[in-house]
Amino acid sequence: MKIKADYSNAPVWKELSIKSRLPEQLKCLDELAHNMWWAWNYEAREMWKSLDEKLYEEVGHNPVLLLERLSYDRKEAIVKDKALMKKVKDVFTDFRQYMDVKPDNKRPSVAYFSMEYGINQVVKIYSGGLGMLAGDYLKEASDSNVDMCAIGFLYRYGYFKQSLSMDGQQIANYDAQNFNSLPLVRQLDEQGNPIVVDVPYMNYQVHAYVWRMNVGRINLYLLDTDNELNSEYDRPITHALYGGDNENRLKQEILLGMGGILTLKKLGIKKQIYHCNEGHAALCNLQRLCDFVDGGMSFNEAMELVRASSLYTVHTPVPAGHDYFDETLFGKYMGGYPQRLGISWDEFIGMGRENPENHTERFCMSVFACNTCQEVNGVSKLHGWVSQKMFAPIWNGYYPEENHVGYVTNGVHLPTWTATEWRKVYDKYFDSSFMSDQSNESIWHAIYNVPDDEIWDTRMVLKNKLVTFIREKFTETWLKNQGDPSRVVSLLERINPNALMIGFCRRFATYKRAHLLFTDLDRLSKIVNDPQHPVLFFFSGKAHPADGAGQGLIKKIFEISQRPEFLGKIIFLEDYDMELARRLVSGVDIWMNTPTRPLEASGTSGEKAELNGVVNLSVLDGWWVEGYRKGAGWALDEKRTYQNQEYQDKLDAATIYGLLENEIIPLYYKKEKKEFSENWIKVIKNSIATIAPHYTMKRQLDDYFDKFYNRQAKRAARLEADHNALAKSIALWKEAVAERWDGIHVVSKDTSFLENGGETGMKYKIRYVIDEQGLDDAVGLELVSLKNDKSTDERQVYSIHPFEVVSREGNLFTFEATIEPSNAGSFRSCVRMYPKHKELPHRQDFAYVKWLD
Ligand SMILES: *Cc1c(COP(=O)(O)O)cnc(C)c1O
Repeated sequence: MKIKADYSNAPVWKELSIKSRLPEQLKCLDELAHNMWWAWNYEAREMWKSLDEKLYEEVGHNPVLLLERLSYDRKEAIVKDKALMKKVKDVFTDFRQYMDVKPDNKRPSVAYFSMEYGINQVVKIYSGGLGMLAGDYLKEASDSNVDMCAIGFLYRYGYFKQSLSMDGQQIANYDAQNFNSLPLVRQLDEQGNPIVVDVPYMNYQVHAYVWRMNVGRINLYLLDTDNELNSEYDRPITHALYGGDNENRLKQEILLGMGGILTLKKLGIKKQIYHCNEGHAALCNLQRLCDFVDGGMSFNEAMELVRASSLYTVHTPVPAGHDYFDETLFGKYMGGYPQRLGISWDEFIGMGRENPENHTERFCMSVFACNTCQEVNGVSKLHGWVSQKMFAPIWNGYYPEENHVGYVTNGVHLPTWTATEWRKVYDKYFDSSFMSDQSNESIWHAIYNVPDDEIWDTRMVLKNKLVTFIREKFTETWLKNQGDPSRVVSLLERINPNALMIGFCRRFATYKRAHLLFTDLDRLSKIVNDPQHPVLFFFSGKAHPADGAGQGLIKKIFEISQRPEFLGKIIFLEDYDMELARRLVSGVDIWMNTPTRPLEASGTSGEKAELNGVVNLSVLDGWWVEGYRKGAGWALDEKRTYQNQEYQDKLDAATIYGLLENEIIPLYYKKEKKEFSENWIKVIKNSIATIAPHYTMKRQLDDYFDKFYNRQAKRAARLEADHNALAKSIALWKEAVAERWDGIHVVSKDTSFLENGGETGMKYKIRYVIDEQGLDDAVGLELVSLKNDKSTDERQVYSIHPFEVVSREGNLFTFEATIEPSNAGSFRSCVRMYPKHKELPHRQDFAYVKWLD
């Protein structure tokens, strides 16, 4: 036998993690570190900091890493430090008290699905507003002691870290996260083995590990496919947030929705309400449909149950913002489902089409969400209306203003976004019921009792903190990226905390119009360079790596900021994240927002500003349409003057310059008796007293219960009672109506009023005799009148007048309406027939419509 030159097998690596041992007295810190509660409790954050201030900075405020790296000597010293140990004990006691409260089961339970969560900058599973909203929601659910759990992803790379090249080009860096050093725990089964969720993809399965983030009392389950159980092809599913191609996006959405439900099943969790935060998660309803059908229900019965218990929140104001999948790709992964559900492929893919018969339409996640969720809502009043119009084509028989799409205006989590300095002011002056009664404006009115000096001092502390933060955080980066050290030093020196500071920080999408301010550079230069009245602008935000125009904007602003006249006056801060956001929304004087109306669905950063005495200057779009109060901030007019966007931008820019020059700057610098402007303090107090109370996450959470969850949970329970008796009977009834719909017809009618018109003050009768084809009073009739306004294409419903059934003979129903016109004018009227059942939540639940002649 020839001796081989090389003979070796492959090593079987074991994943080992060695934990740093904590002395007995500090054991509680491990539990504390692994619950994100510290992220919104400043006493806890101060405690972490005092364990080792320098190390705390080094580890980016991550307590898990802090404990891991804490030296033996330091641990010994902490244990001996009585004052510090008292602090540890106090914080832990508070935490235990918080956690030991029994869950409140008076309100319906909720499973929440979202592609991203902004809980804290330490865990990079968010990109921007959507994630921040979801993170804030869970924190408030915890504070409000709601029975909720949530599903998301643990991304290996998350969203990118932003830096700028010398010439202002955005550079995207993806850093891998080490999950073991994050405040997360692996979800284990009863035997102590990691839970693995098997999610079907075509003819194979993807295996996801489940990590749990303790968000106070709420469990957030995070799926992770980047593991050895999966092929190279599937590991990247949870690599990046909004990265990869369309196929990866579909695979992500299968994991989030279907994998999410499978995870809950594996964990034995059942909730009353399933809430899709944005369309990404809508396939959760597909898995739920499958489960009901597997359990022996028909597709239509299953649909009744799934719809009743699900809610879809849309965050996008334009159709282009939704996810679409073409039939080939969608079919590749979804081909097996129609058979399992007992429907045809066309019926299946049709659930994602505005017009199911249109075979060229791609499958749209949002349309699928609308079709499988009983309720749909936008995220501000204006966006609710925009969404009604956007989704109107799904329910062709109804006008946009008639459909059921509602709204809940977004809010922000108060303890997360209120600077500690302000928390202390509020604690001192506000009624102690404040935190549990946040939307009660009268409590907030106590801000008027706070001495002006105290308000100003608080503001100045935070302005200085921001400037210090920038100097500490950016010096190194800028020296590295921006060349000429003397210029960087001079820039840093020029940042003047006494200047009027204005922040514009958000995602760089072109509709947000970050460029607006730079329409007239001479005028801008005069504004920022007035030696008596200095003004300073901070810009910050990321552009999506595929958004060339957004990156172009960043480059342009960066270039302008480097000109001598703007150096230290217009400053671009790289890598906008939660930490930087917290400093900015509390550190500047004015928060500016200039979107093209109505493209800002809600926006939340301005609400964060409100909690910190930072005043808004914004286009009347999103939440600000509702939030703006005179004397408590500034609103840019909502009027659209020019169709041409460039002209409109110029006009809007001129308005901003004018406001700054004539109103805002003079007001800010109008110092009489004090070293600050008392009139400015008035604006701050007005905005805290009258705006802030209405935009907290507590108000938002309560709204979801009041407008949707309570009502839906009640109805869903009725549908499910007695082995789903009502769900089955509604499905049966709908099937009967659908089958006979085309046969239901007019037998005779008296519609002379509709032919001839009439006069005000008179009474007219309209009568129809309808053959209901054996159905028992299953349809309703109504006269729909539109204002016949020739000046616009948009028709608005003027009135809807119901008919009554006045007699019935066999299959024949006689309907009558008495019309008394009260206004003269020109109208278009037609009679609409619709299915009628007292158990339907709304018309769009069964949107069959026949217009009669
Ligand atoms: C609040 C926040 C957002 C969302 O702000 P908008 O006003 O909706 O643009 C985005 N990114 C971060 C880091 C935030 O804190």
